[in-house]
Amino acid sequence: MKRRLSLFGATGSVGRSTLDLVRADGEAWSLSVLTANSDVAELGRLAREFRPTRAVIADEARFGDLKEALAGTGIEVAAGTEALVEAANEPTDLVMAAIVGCAGLASTMAALEAGHDVALANKEALVSAGELMTAAARASGATILPVDSEHNAIFQCLAGGRLSEVRRIILTASGGPFRAMSAAEMAHVTPAQAVAHPNWSMGAKISVDSATMMNKGLELIEAHHLFPIGLERIEILVHPQSVIHSMVEYIDRSILAQLGSPDMRIPISSALAWPRRMETPCAPLDLAAIGRLDFEAPDEARFPATALCRAAIAEGGARPAQLNAANEVAVGAFLAGRISFPAIIDTVRRVVDAAAPARPGSLQDIFSVDAASRAAAQQFVDQCEHV
Ligand code: NAD
Ligand code: MG
Repeated sequence: MKRRLSLFGATGSVGRSTLDLVRADGEAWSLSVLTANSDVAELGRLAREFRPTRAVIADEARFGDLKEALAGTGIEVAAGTEALVEAANEPTDLVMAAIVGCAGLASTMAALEAGHDVALANKEALVSAGELMTAAARASGATILPVDSEHNAIFQCLAGGRLSEVRRIILTASGGPFRAMSAAEMAHVTPAQAVAHPNWSMGAKISVDSATMMNKGLELIEAHHLFPIGLERIEILVHPQSVIHSMVEYIDRSILAQLGSPDMRIPISSALAWPRRMETPCAPLDLAAIGRLDFEAPDEARFPATALCRAAIAEGGARPAQLNAANEVAVGAFLAGRISFPAIIDTVRRVVDAAAPARPGSLQDIFSVDAASRAAAQQFVDQCEHV
């Protein structure tokens, strides 16, 4: 029997890597849903190749174009954010949540509520609404399979172990493209420099997050929700080669690590095949050629984002959602050439310095915090631009 897969964010970096694996093992899969934000041509092409039951474009204005692109195929066509949520209810065996940003929250949540297992790449959803998402998964019996390479590594290192026997989680970080730069030098870096990650090829937003180390901060929050062992037991360790994708230390001081080439198809395959394994076309790891593995403590003076994230999740409530929204706006402004690189984290800091938002009880509360935080961040961005 073929397994059914719904892929949200099919045209992105994680989406394309997922389809690479499906393509290589076409007999194993049938697609239920494919979605994209606004690239109708690419979604149309992918839908014609993979023949999902339904194709959804988030941008409502592109509905007619998608309908035209898929005319005669028998593939159901839908558009808009509501349609994304509806598509999350489509019968399926696994949902790959690979939309970037809080834009993926509603559909990911709907999939969990429907009891679908979710391969989760969309870390911003978990950062913004971790408690609601993990509660929804518990209530429906859905499993969250982490796709983020670090969390997938931890998930693998926990196989057969118990969280109560874990002493520490060691979250590794490459340090990004500016790891060795002074703060003064970082003041002048360009978007092109920031998206050129030394080890991984990824979407623009996460690449900038890696450069500010916000990515590791978001991953700290992500780890806290996925592996609740206590925030103080989750450490960040800089490891520039990105060969060890994270580690778990048990109470007996034994440490397990997961290693592999920096290729997202490895953690994606792990989530797709779980609890089994599947072949991948990925390069073998040549440790002799790599020669050495380096480690260093993170420098929170030059990269304050991880400390901001640790404080936000320690405070809890809506603070992480507020932080995430401010970061999304600031990263967008930096990529558009509107603010400097250091202004990204300055904007986030100024937004989370405000009074704490009320504790969120529902997804609607999270969306309200998200919207208010975006507006506040936008104000700071506009001010930065006018100095
Ligand atoms: P990307 O920018 O390459 O792709 C994003 C996808 O989301 C695209 O398909 C796009 O059409 C869709 N999308 C964007 N905005 C949308 C909106 N408003 N509504 C609906 N759909 C929208 O991003 P990516 O690098 O593939 O990252 C996807 C997610 O996976 C992110 O949360 C990222 O943090 C996480 N992740 C990515 C990598 C990686 O290697 N790229 C690694 C770990 C985690
Ligand atoms: Mg990661």
